Amino acid sequence: MADTTKMDKLVALSKRRGFFYPGSDLYGGLANTYDYGPMGTELLRNIKNLWWEYFVTKRADMVGLDAGIISHHKIWEASGHVAGFADAMVDCKNCKTRMRADHLIEDALHQPVEGLSNEKLDELITSNKIKCPVCGKSDWTKVRKFNLLFPVQRGIVEGEGGAGYLRGETAQGIFVNFQNIINSTRVKLPFGVGQLGKSFRNEITPGNAVFRTIEFEQGEIEYFFDPNKSDWEELFENWKQAMYTFVTEKLGINKDNLRWRPHTDEERSFYSKRTEDLEYQFPFGFKELWGLAYRTNYDLAAHEKGANKELKIVDPQSGEKILPHVIEPAVGINRLLLMIMNDAYFEEENRTVLRLDPRLSPIKAAVFPLLANKPELIELAQSVFENLQDTIEGKIAWDDRGNIGKRYLSQDEVGTPYCITIDFQSLEDHTVTVRDRDTAKQERIAIDQLPKYIKEKIR
Ligand code: ATP
Repeated sequence: MADTTKMDKLVALSKRRGFFYPGSDLYGGLANTYDYGPMGTELLRNIKNLWWEYFVTKRADMVGLDAGIISHHKIWEASGHVAGFADAMVDCKNCKTRMRADHLIEDALHQPVEGLSNEKLDELITSNKIKCPVCGKSDWTKVRKFNLLFPVQRGIVEGEGGAGYLRGETAQGIFVNFQNIINSTRVKLPFGVGQLGKSFRNEITPGNAVFRTIEFEQGEIEYFFDPNKSDWEELFENWKQAMYTFVTEKLGINKDNLRWRPHTDEERSFYSKRTEDLEYQFPFGFKELWGLAYRTNYDLAAHEKGANKELKIVDPQSGEKILPHVIEPAVGINRLLLMIMNDAYFEEENRTVLRLDPRLSPIKAAVFPLLANKPELIELAQSVFENLQDTIEGKIAWDDRGNIGKRYLSQDEVGTPYCITIDFQSLEDHTVTVRDRDTAKQERIAIDQLPKYIKEKIR
């Protein structure tokens, strides 16, 4: 059952406190786009930094890449996206709502339909008399395919020089740079390439805020290996473990809200030997968070053919030429953000609190002088603030408006783990109160111990 109230509350909090806003808001909005505000920007950066550190920096078998967003149309022809990267859509003849046929059927019948033909989808909609969720009528057009790629025009004469596409996924940038990476580094199989960056898909979405947007950020990894030397099932299990550990231990997500869902034979791409989704229980149900697919050597083979260039590498021991296979873990960073906010959102008797893991919190600590009109309090608070700014990694906030209780509530809503108040006692004994977001308890800490204290708490 969709918890629309929770979703509405998250969206309202996001707008009110600067996590995300509807895109192009000033001009009435642009469907399925969002802009990230001061809090959301910090949160996104923290998620990406953790992802990068865990999957790239700290792994000896991984390297990073930052490929271009605009890429040659031949890449997307060879990869199969121009011909096949399309959603099956239906239009309600009565109220003109356009919807993804798979979403319409899945929501009504609670069965996955990915991979089914247009005819089969038509049949399911008609035989089950599925109703339009907007007007309640059951009068649909036939299913039609809409390509998801955004074409890019270049040059001044309209219609000339179709340069390429905005990338529909970051993964192709890795495949087309495979040879460059092999030639310019000392990597050897098995190894992976990780990339963070924007992707673009011309999607029609049923709302759900930043869960599905036309512009979004992906974290994708292609893990290359020789299938004669590495056991793909073992690698697959290792990646499942790494993804799960990241979500539960690094992002602090409740395990009860997670589950694995293996793809059925129909929905799995023909070249994939195994695909599983890590799903999260969003307010609108369990949905894909992170996909894991064993894609064989389908992509490298497609680019060998498309570019007419050899992408095989020579095994240093046997001298044999091989075209490596890949396992691909692919996640949406904006979906991680929505999951994190949903998981951390709690309403208590007199406050709303985001119980974010401190590593994710947009603000690590907030400094409050008890009164804004007492220069000696301001001066001491300022020195505490500057010292924390110099010593703590992450943002420190300053707030001298309103009463202390209101300042606490304001920081609770954005997930700040610690609030530090400089009061009259501070002037006498050089201690401050540190208030813990989760317990709402206060402790007095000596000012010279404060950076160490906060550092230990938030790491
Ligand atoms: P879905 O079935 O939800 O459309 P997908 O299977 O097409 O997703 P992939 O192509 O495997 O997704 O992309 C990898 C990840 O990128 C997904 O698991 C998801 O987290 C994220 N993602 C995909 N499309 C979007 C989108 N339009 N907006 C936000 N995130 C997205």
